[in-house]
Amino acid sequence: MNKQINVTQSSMPDFSEYVEEIKELWESHWLTNMGAKHNQFEKELQEYLNTSKIKLFVNGHMALESIIGACHLTGEVITTPYTFISTTHAIVRNNLQPIFCDINSEDYTIDTTKIEELITEKTSAIIPVHVYGNICNVKEIDRIAKKYNLKVIYDAAHAFGETYNGKGVANFGDASMFSFHATKVFNSIEGGAVTYKDEGLTDILEGMKDFGILDYESVPYIGNNSKMNEFQAAMGICNLRHLLGEIEKRKLVVERYFMWLKDIDGIKLNRPQEGVKQNYSYFPVVFDGYRKTRDEIYDSLEKNNIYARKYFYPLTTDYECYEGRFHSQYTPIAKKISKQILTLPLYANLEISDVDRICNIILN
Ligand SMILES: *Cc1c(COP(=O)(O)O)cnc(C)c1O
Repeated sequence: MNKQINVTQSSMPDFSEYVEEIKELWESHWLTNMGAKHNQFEKELQEYLNTSKIKLFVNGHMALESIIGACHLTGEVITTPYTFISTTHAIVRNNLQPIFCDINSEDYTIDTTKIEELITEKTSAIIPVHVYGNICNVKEIDRIAKKYNLKVIYDAAHAFGETYNGKGVANFGDASMFSFHATKVFNSIEGGAVTYKDEGLTDILEGMKDFGILDYESVPYIGNNSKMNEFQAAMGICNLRHLLGEIEKRKLVVERYFMWLKDIDGIKLNRPQEGVKQNYSYFPVVFDGYRKTRDEIYDSLEKNNIYARKYFYPLTTDYECYEGRFHSQYTPIAKKISKQILTLPLYANLEISDVDRICNIILN
């Protein structure tokens, strides 16, 4: 049997580098609650993302849930169902009503021509997703948000470190959420962050992730507990040192996939967007009119011990927890793409010969 290939493999520093990084923790005995590693990592990320304000969280989901809560949104929020379930959960868990807008079939981000018709007097925000690292139509979203006085919070979990027309992705909208989960292009084991513009959110976000505690005798917010610990931050510090090299290696994998699959009838690849410096986080392929279906390709890969992912299938609206509440027939393009999409294995240490083997299975 061929070796198992998964859709991703976590980037890790050398064991000795990580050990060196966490050594000080045995001296300080300070393991969590905004320790030295946490603060160093936060500072490094602020520079890397080229943003003025950032707060770290235990994971991306809690970062998103917390920033939505901190913005005191009400009523309805416009978002897309073509995302990881976290985006929809974060809205619903804040007692808001998600209103699902369709995606466009070019880059799978929110179709900005369909946002305005969904706006009502109850709408308070737009929460779009830079899916697969494809940057949303930020200019148009900005125009709509200004016109209707809406907040914009980006789920930028896939877009870490990218730039658009030279501007860091963290600088669009009112806030952006990033995920440093083990399966992402950059990881701190688990981890996440919020970047934001309004200085007034600083205290709320800090309180939010620490039970709403301001000081020992004051708890002004009903917070959660989502602080990033020192071991996570240490992993993030190490991985950040090597990130550019990892992205370069991912790029070679993506170029190899393109070489094999770019001119095949019925296979649609995720084309690079103009003006975007990519992070090569995912390699989604749409099988539309190909001689095999997405599910058949998925099965043949699996028989060869290769585990691609149907990412994103099903739509978040179609999970059983939302049965009878949300309806995917109003987002037909998202529905169609979700049945045709397959995300192929992509990680820094994926061997080019394995890419060749994967493509050979798809093509033959
Ligand atoms: C990974 C991810 C999240 C959640 O991030 P975690 O760090 O895993 O909590 C949210 N949205 C999207 C689009 C993601 O891919």
